[in-house]
Amino acid sequence: MDLKKVSGIRKLPCASTNGNPAIKGISLKEQIYYKNSPTVLSPNEEQVKILIHQLTLILHYRQDNNQINEVMTLAALSIRSMLAYRQKELQDLIQYPEEKLASIIKDVGFRCDLCGRCCTEEFNDHVFLLDTDTALIKQIDPSALTPAPYFKFCDQHGRFYVSGYALKSKPDGSCYFLEGGRCRIYSQRLSICRIYPYMLHREADELGNVDWRQISGLDEHGCYHTGIEDTRAEEIAKETMDYEKAFLKQEISFLKAVNAHFLKDGLKHIKSMYDKQMRYFKRGGSIEVYVYCNGIFEKNMLPAEQ
Ligand code: SF4
Repeated sequence: MDLKKVSGIRKLPCASTNGNPAIKGISLKEQIYYKNSPTVLSPNEEQVKILIHQLTLILHYRQDNNQINEVMTLAALSIRSMLAYRQKELQDLIQYPEEKLASIIKDVGFRCDLCGRCCTEEFNDHVFLLDTDTALIKQIDPSALTPAPYFKFCDQHGRFYVSGYALKSKPDGSCYFLEGGRCRIYSQRLSICRIYPYMLHREADELGNVDWRQISGLDEHGCYHTGIEDTRAEEIAKETMDYEKAFLKQEISFLKAVNAHFLKDGLKHIKSMYDKQMRYFKRGGSIEVYVYCNGIFEKNMLPAEQ
């Protein structure tokens, strides 16, 4: 089995600080093409590969690490191009054979050894929430919520837009719900926490090769080859596919909503405004972030008002 050693996203990996290998292979011309193509609706296979590279960047690079330019390369893509990319990704995911994923899960045979590393920023950048997870956290403890980082768009008035919430981290970088190395809400833990470390999405490796990834942090935590029953592997595969589909549907719904909102109110994404507002925020200023949740945009102020 050819499993590459990659970190996961959504429980997102920390950025590498060693430059930007994933952008290799994308020519300046190609990047300019996307920046200047506001109405690309059906990217061909090659264009989709480039979009995957660029989307991978936004998922991999932290804004506090001088990687804002890479993040903004993606944000400069038109909303409709991003929508076309996400729709293609969903189609591909639907066609992926569930039994193949189940067989990989069985081969990997992962078992948690309670090290707790996957619940820290150091190992996984942040925990992204599906709308169903957000509804649950609003019942358990709404103060655990924060707009997911790496905002996708910023309009000409300096307002940011992002596709969902994430869990807050504590000052030591551990998850808001991690206490004494254990999850305080384990029986109700969130969608991504249930399937982790399994995943099913395309991602670029350190050499920039894009392929399906099925496991996060291979050999970096937990135990392997522990013997998983066929039926259990099939259950995990189904849960993993369901999660990935729900994630993409949430992204698609968000992009459609932003597109409609921008058209209706004469708004547009402005890269220079994004940069300016992020600099202001880093200096301690407060920003407005609109989080897409259950079909509406919820206004949040960052830093959170006390
Ligand atoms: S919610 Fe629980 S399982 Fe999920 S990251 Fe936080 S502590 Fe870990």
